[in-house]
Amino acid sequence: MLDFVIIGGGITGITLTKQLRLDGYNVLCLEAKKNAGGLCRTENIDGHILDIGGGHFFHTKYKEVFDFVFNYIPESEFNFIPRVSKIRIGENTIDYPLESNLWQLPMDKQILYLISVIRNGEALGMPEPKNYEEWIRWKLGNLICDNYMLPYNTKLWGVKPSEMDIDWLYKIPRVNVTEILKYSLEKKQDKSKFPAHISFYYPKKGGFQRIFDALFQDEKNYVKLDTKVEKIEKEKDGYWLINNEFKTKYVINTTPWNDLFEALGKPKKLENDFAKIKYNRIVVSLYEKEYSHNWHWRYVPDIKRNYHREFYISNFAKSSKANGMYVETNLKRFDGTEEVLDAVNLYNYTTDAAYPIPIIGHSEAIKNILEYYKPFGLFGVGRWGQHEYQNADVSMFNALMFVEEKKWNYQV
Ligand SMILES: Cc1cc2nc3c(=O)[nH]c(=O)nc-3n(C[C@H](O)[C@H](O)[C@H](O)COP(=O)(O)OP(=O)(O)OC[C@H]3O[C@@H](n4cnc5c(N)ncnc54)[C@H](O)[C@@H]3O)c2cc1C
Repeated sequence: MLDFVIIGGGITGITLTKQLRLDGYNVLCLEAKKNAGGLCRTENIDGHILDIGGGHFFHTKYKEVFDFVFNYIPESEFNFIPRVSKIRIGENTIDYPLESNLWQLPMDKQILYLISVIRNGEALGMPEPKNYEEWIRWKLGNLICDNYMLPYNTKLWGVKPSEMDIDWLYKIPRVNVTEILKYSLEKKQDKSKFPAHISFYYPKKGGFQRIFDALFQDEKNYVKLDTKVEKIEKEKDGYWLINNEFKTKYVINTTPWNDLFEALGKPKKLENDFAKIKYNRIVVSLYEKEYSHNWHWRYVPDIKRNYHREFYISNFAKSSKANGMYVETNLKRFDGTEEVLDAVNLYNYTTDAAYPIPIIGHSEAIKNILEYYKPFGLFGVGRWGQHEYQNADVSMFNALMFVEEKKWNYQV
């Protein structure tokens, strides 16, 4: 008899497995694929270090996460790198974020952008809108919206920003009109306004998976690979039965809830909520191309290009072969024929699930699902379990807190 079955062997599932096991519980983690690691996996393709889930960099605001990670892989095994991220806007490439670096544009464009910023809804005292497109116009003005944020976000998410909520926006920098004007006049931005990753850690050898591997090392015997969860039943005796095989007191899900709808017996009461849980899929395409700049990545809003972000691998993965780069493309836009700046395409990888899409109503839907299953001993933790735009550090933090606070023990 198990205390916990954990669904999914990504970084959330392994953090849960480790912490519960160290606390003396009987745990089994079930992973659908032949390899654990989920989005945090890295492949070596002809000497190029490729993080196949897309651009992955480590940083966190949580001391608990630094302590946890550096306990298994010492800080000395990382390079700590100040971030160099760019945006391609028309023919110009300037620093990220656009609104803080308008002064890097040619003067005629700068003037148009600044006029548009000054006339934005926030500056005019209008109330904050509730959908993402309106919010961008309100916050940053029409020009930044139409030339950058709208095309970029449409490409990335694969849904119209007008269908998206604004409850995840703590992820992006928030500067106001006064600050934008100040940066333009002073010709410098205040980098402390970056919400994350102003600098980041990246393994000196290999890729982001080094972090996962360090955590996974002692957990291998508690993870059953190649075992997709397809049936989750509550037995009359109060225990859960997973795939007709694993009997357990509690279940923790770290995978997309919408994919478990059938496994959970298509709960009629939650049908509408499950329908609002959506994710996109990203294709990561590796290329060889000469470059001599120091950029780590560049955002590409140009709607004529299918991909939305470029990464320059050897600028951050120091053990990678020179001249490797990759781009991220939403699967809906990927047709396999795009030529990336005259480069040679070596490899493409498609994620199973990349970003939880914050469509309007998603917060209420996930809340309903989690509240419904909690009294039965089924919980959700991490990027998919909580259906939130969480980076790996936040997912680890939530897993650490779930165990530390024994969140399965609560009063109804
Ligand atoms: C493009 C991109 C860039 C990112 N950049 C960063 C970054 O720079 N820094 C950072 O910290 N984070 C970044 N992240 C976020 C990070 O990848 C996630 O927060 C983290 O990997 C989530 O881990 P997880 O274990 O919750 O989910 P996942 O890694 O998705 O793992 C879920 C696991 O569950 C398995 N599974 C699915 N269904 C089933 C089933 N039915 N039965 C059994 N197993 C199943 C999957 O195979 C997978 O292994 C990025 C993500 C993306 C997509």
